[in-house]
Amino acid sequence: MSDPTIFERIIDGDIPGHVVHKTEAVAAFLDANPLTPGHTLVVPREPYTRLRDVPPDVSADIFGAVRTLSPAIEDAVDADATTVGINDGTVAGQEVPHLHVHIVPRFEGDGGGSIHTAVGSFADLDDDEIADIASDIETRLG
Ligand code: 5GP
Repeated sequence: MSDPTIFERIIDGDIPGHVVHKTEAVAAFLDANPLTPGHTLVVPREPYTRLRDVPPDVSADIFGAVRTLSPAIEDAVDADATTVGINDGTVAGQEVPHLHVHIVPRFEGDGGGSIHTAVGSFADLDDDEIADIASDIETRLG
């Protein structure tokens, strides 16, 4: 069996952390290097690496927890808004190989951007290329 991930160790109480939510399938705890006050990570308790690895019932539980936690966190830190995101894969910036959803409370004037700032430019695609991508996605969904 592989070593537990850092997030499993936090959930199990083996290393210090502020766990704010725990169910059979999902847990949430404060990020140790918060982008803003209240920055929270929601994780499946099984250490799936990528979103594509997560079974549908568990992904439903993860998003359910995000839905429950986001307003509670926003209110707890008196935030104005929230950014929710996943760095899904190394190239997207994932550093911990245990899937996690970032809930980042946002404040007027916090200097951050929207999800659109995650990539520094817009894709240069014509209508046919966009249509081909849409068709490819639909085909893969079966
Ligand atoms: P990623 O870049 O993989 O999307 O984000 C990993 C997140 O995990 C970072 O925001 C980082 O601050 C957080 N993190 C890394 N190690 C620890 C830790 O030991 N405890 C907690 N609470 N958060 C951690």
